[in-house]
Amino acid sequence: MGEKHKIVCVYLCSILLNIFENQLIMRPPICAICRKRFSPRKANGSGLVYFKLSEEEKARNDRMKEKRMKGHPSGREWFCEEHYSIAQKYNHLTRGEAIPEIKNHKEIQD
Ligand SMILES: [Zn+2]
Repeated sequence: MGEKHKIVCVYLCSILLNIFENQLIMRPPICAICRKRFSPRKANGSGLVYFKLSEEEKARNDRMKEKRMKGHPSGREWFCEEHYSIAQKYNHLTRGEAIPEIKNHKEIQD
């Protein structure tokens, strides 16, 4: 194989690897409460909620930034249109604290 071919091959491989990694790491929009998969749109009231970061999550995000790693940052969760507005009420809590509260909230409403 010529030198030129090798360079092209390495380049293409790195692109493919990148796509693959992104798909593995980036979380698809699945509701953190009901596990429903949905298409995120601001218009239908679903989306990402940014929770307060625990010390552990902060450290993890910093480590990822340092290493320039791509991925789903800690403290963010997807919520479907049914749970997004409830989840936002608890975004002053950490993710670990908020999830049980949101689940509770749902039960109370039912
Ligand atoms: Zn949901």
